[in-house]
Amino acid sequence: MSDCLFCKIIAGEIPSTVVYEDDMIFAFRDIEPQAPEHIVIVPKEHIGSANEITGENSKYVAAIFEKIPAIAKELGIDKDGYRVVNNCGEYGGQTVHHLHFHLMGGRPFGWPAG
Ligand code: 5GP
Ligand code: ZN
Repeated sequence: MSDCLFCKIIAGEIPSTVVYEDDMIFAFRDIEPQAPEHIVIVPKEHIGSANEITGENSKYVAAIFEKIPAIAKELGIDKDGYRVVNNCGEYGGQTVHHLHFHLMGGRPFGWPAG
């Protein structure tokens, strides 16, 4: 999608600090980190939100979650633990409409969510 911020980041049209990349997924540092480690992980195919996950494209979601343990280990947050967040739609607080998962660690997080 030509006007999608994360598609532009994946294409390298907008610079980012890349943490991991393969043929299916792209992981980069969030520009406004909410934790000492805050990574955004996206599918390389444009999927608008969690509402658009289907049997056809769920392989991208699987690829992201299969890689989270290795990324967390690389960041050094695997032992203490971390939070993975998806914001979907208006009430979910989604601001970029390309499916993404926030991987955050380096501090404890509260629960219930605000
Ligand atoms: P959302 O609110 O949609 O769940 O998350 C979007 C995230 O993208 C936010 O945490 C925001 O800080 C991050 N973000 C927005 N624009 C940019 C950008 O240009 N570069 C990077 N690295 N992150 C961005
Ligand atoms: Zn996109």
